[in-house]
Amino acid sequence: MLPAFVDGMVQLITKTSTDLPPDVRAAMGLAVRTEAPATRAGQALTIIAQNIDQAVACEGPICQDTGMPTFEVKVPVGVNQIWLRAQIREAIAEATRRGKLRPNSVDSITGENSGDNLGPGTPIIHFEQWEEPGIEVKLILKGGGCENTNAQYALPTELDHLGRADRTLEGVRKCILHAVWKAQGKGCSPGAVGVCVGGDRTSGYLHAKEQLFRTLDDTNPDPRLAAIESAVMDEANRLAVGPMGFSGQTSLIGCKIGALNRLPASFFVSVAYDCWAFRRLGVRVDAATGGITEWLYRDGTSPSEPMLAPEVVAAGFPRTGREIALQAPISSAQIQSLEVGDVVLISGRIFTGRDAVHAHLMKHEPPVDLSGGVLYHCGPVVAKEGEGWRVMAAGPTTSIREEPYQAEILKRYGVKVVIGKGGMGAKTLAGLKASGAVYLNAIGGAAQFYARCIERVAGVSLMEFGTPEAMWHLDVRDFPAIVTMDAHGNSLHKDVQEASGAILETLQ
Ligand code: SF4
Repeated sequence: MLPAFVDGMVQLITKTSTDLPPDVRAAMGLAVRTEAPATRAGQALTIIAQNIDQAVACEGPICQDTGMPTFEVKVPVGVNQIWLRAQIREAIAEATRRGKLRPNSVDSITGENSGDNLGPGTPIIHFEQWEEPGIEVKLILKGGGCENTNAQYALPTELDHLGRADRTLEGVRKCILHAVWKAQGKGCSPGAVGVCVGGDRTSGYLHAKEQLFRTLDDTNPDPRLAAIESAVMDEANRLAVGPMGFSGQTSLIGCKIGALNRLPASFFVSVAYDCWAFRRLGVRVDAATGGITEWLYRDGTSPSEPMLAPEVVAAGFPRTGREIALQAPISSAQIQSLEVGDVVLISGRIFTGRDAVHAHLMKHEPPVDLSGGVLYHCGPVVAKEGEGWRVMAAGPTTSIREEPYQAEILKRYGVKVVIGKGGMGAKTLAGLKASGAVYLNAIGGAAQFYARCIERVAGVSLMEFGTPEAMWHLDVRDFPAIVTMDAHGNSLHKDVQEASGAILETLQ
């Protein structure tokens, strides 16, 4: 019964959640060297690189959204797949108990969180038989922010800024560029795309996600697809979407394309977008003992090469001297003085709130006084410590999901600062102006970095929504973020989207 198998799976999940594979590190290292350090893009990438090193040092989740675990398992004939599935599920529950995974499995009808990452459809486990004697298990953890930016096109179609995409490889190229442009910073760029040409709607998306199991530095064996991959990499990085959608030279770190046969009547192009926190690893396992015999994508014995020198990590946020200190609660005068592009350092009490909290606040009074307050779009990973709590990972979540609610919440409760990532839309921009508030973009995925800005968990409300969705009261110090939507009607997100759209027109 493979006594070491569960233990090996817990190791695999832990390593995947806390330590990026070498090919992703190399791509992110190149991005860090490409962007000028004193720019918004450069500062964002320095925080990301610090975060990657901090996650390894404390064996904590790289990002608080530990994503949808997806396993691809290859087994020799005769291995009991029912038993393996049960063992993988047990390992998922154990890794969740250890705080390596955030409880992320939610009943789609009631919204109730199962608490252990188990439920119908979670985790995703695909089995395949092969002729080898051992078992191979590959795992990808793909978060919700980037999952929500996936796209599927039915060709021929008309695309913004790119015109018609025909049923040709040229049409495929246009679809991929369109998907990267549309994602902007919402999927925590720089990202990577897995693409499927053909298939049906379901097999297309599956095959697109499977492309993400390829290494970023491999070469497609099909020269026609290799040519499109290379063209997309070049052109997407000319779009100037940049890290976090802040503009810059690095928008994409990988493009991997596969093809499936299709029905004559259909021509789908499916795009699976993954963020910079591209967590993918694998192991080979002895089919008799269940013990790990080999790590895939990485050397299992040597530690990962750090992204930065230890003193750079220890120095924390890379300051330029132009940062503006804000103490919560924040006055209207301070808010009016802020402009798009300002870097702020927030200290004092902030409150988390994401999907469940926003829906709740539309019908109920808040459990705390939010006037002059800071609302942080964040679903942290927390651990109970005695009578209190410790935040183990706390980066921002994608803000656009709160677009239907945000303006009303600003108006009703006097919130002055919203922190999130990826930006918000026209309704919120108008709401910020009307209510005298600002939107700050924190660095998506930098969960370890931001956890270190939290001095204390002062309390928690609405725990009935589960730990990621509860309202946490956090005392923070020097929490850095960038004003990307101000109280005067300006939005960096709108500007970058328009400017990158104009560049897209030149790539028709
Ligand atoms: S890095 Fe961003 S997109 Fe990726 S899992 Fe984290 S929050 Fe989601």
